[in-house]
Amino acid sequence: MQNQKHTLPQLPYAHNALEPFIDEQTMLLHHTKHHQAYIDKLNLALDKYPNLSDKSLEELLGNLEEVPEDIRVAVRNHGGGHYNHSLFWQMLAPSEVEGMSPTGKFLQELEKTFGTLADFKELFSKTALNQFGSGWGWLVLNKNKKLVVYSTSNQDNPLTQGDAPLLGIDIWEHAYYLKYQNKRQEYIGQWWNVVNWKYVEDRYRQNL
Ligand code: MN
Repeated sequence: MQNQKHTLPQLPYAHNALEPFIDEQTMLLHHTKHHQAYIDKLNLALDKYPNLSDKSLEELLGNLEEVPEDIRVAVRNHGGGHYNHSLFWQMLAPSEVEGMSPTGKFLQELEKTFGTLADFKELFSKTALNQFGSGWGWLVLNKNKKLVVYSTSNQDNPLTQGDAPLLGIDIWEHAYYLKYQNKRQEYIGQWWNVVNWKYVEDRYRQNL
């Protein structure tokens, strides 16, 4: 069987499109070096198991216990890295794009669960800020179709615990250090300006 290699997805916008909130140099390195490295290492791990090549990342990360033990950590870290970053690029958009705030049933559910939109943003930001070391902050739709906020370490993804990721923020230092240095809080605060709420809302509807 021909081994289907994972490849780097193109960004849905230019590398400088998220300026000034996320700078071009950070986006270039993050996309073409960091994301590419996860893909290369994932492909290397999967080379040994051609029978896994037709499995999607969702299937692999959602059933990690079924992945052969000798490549399980690699799939978790590098497959997770590939999946998380592929989502992350789509979860962002230039700030001038239309529809940059949540609407409809999704907004109602956010407000029912967290209070105001500002309350939600505060909880999400605090959760991301307080994640110790590298990881991600998430808004997910859990198995009971409830909205929940939490963080994960490293490249772990909510899929692994059966939750659907709707919105995620990369809080590895490589995501912000060039522009924001050690000021993770400032990065998180500015990041809200480039959240693609339309995409997040679409994910909410698709996973209901
Ligand atoms: Mn990253």
